[in-house]
Amino acid sequence: MTKRALKRLLPAVTFAAVSSLGAFTHASANEAAHSHWSYEGESGPAHWGEVSPDFEACSRGKSQSPIDIANPVKDGKEAVTFDYKQSGLNVVNNGHTIQVNYDKGSSIKINGVSYDLVQLHFHDPSEHTVNGKSYGMELHLVHKNSGGELAVVGVLIENGAENPAFKALWADLPAGAGDKKELARTINAADFLPAERTFYHYAGSLTTPPCSEGVSWFVIEKPIQMSEAQIARFKEIIKGNNRPVQPLNGRKVVID
Ligand SMILES: [Zn+2]
Repeated sequence: MTKRALKRLLPAVTFAAVSSLGAFTHASANEAAHSHWSYEGESGPAHWGEVSPDFEACSRGKSQSPIDIANPVKDGKEAVTFDYKQSGLNVVNNGHTIQVNYDKGSSIKINGVSYDLVQLHFHDPSEHTVNGKSYGMELHLVHKNSGGELAVVGVLIENGAENPAFKALWADLPAGAGDKKELARTINAADFLPAERTFYHYAGSLTTPPCSEGVSWFVIEKPIQMSEAQIARFKEIIKGNNRPVQPLNGRKVVID
């Protein structure tokens, strides 16, 4: 083969290599697309139910979360008590939120039934609204009982004073999707709760795919505060991870 012929051949070889790589990437992307969901466009909240058969509840469910909290009914039957301990900071950016996987040993009690605190994570802006009002962010504390049933405590976060309770976590948020950090500091989720705890309670779902129902929601009426800079820091990493409010379909919201 002449040098000239080789030169002519090279771009073709390179092209073949690139397109087979392209095909490989495409196949992997298709596989990932099978369960890929996001907060906008074709894979956004309005389409979650079509993304995977496992996500059917997202479009067909009748008890979905979040909701707009309006006209709650006074009840006083559901009592929630907290028994939160210190936890190490195992933090993960899963591409949808920043999540702290909480150490074993912390729990809440709802009418005598114990639910372990499993993880906590954040949404910006808030997912629940109150009389149509949205908040800067929302904290979700996810608990599970021995039967596998979930109870989530929602804490609304409004723009205000700097919140010292979040300093340790906020100083080192994992910035890239898939990043994990184990920090040599501890937190106590009790420090994230407002002192005054009146709850809006209703039966709902996970607010992310697969949108499974049977989740007991307890949104605390009184918001906590974070400074504009603290909220802005989160938004630099995760922007707009709130599912829009879902129809009530006759569900009652109780205030305890
Ligand atoms: Zn959440």
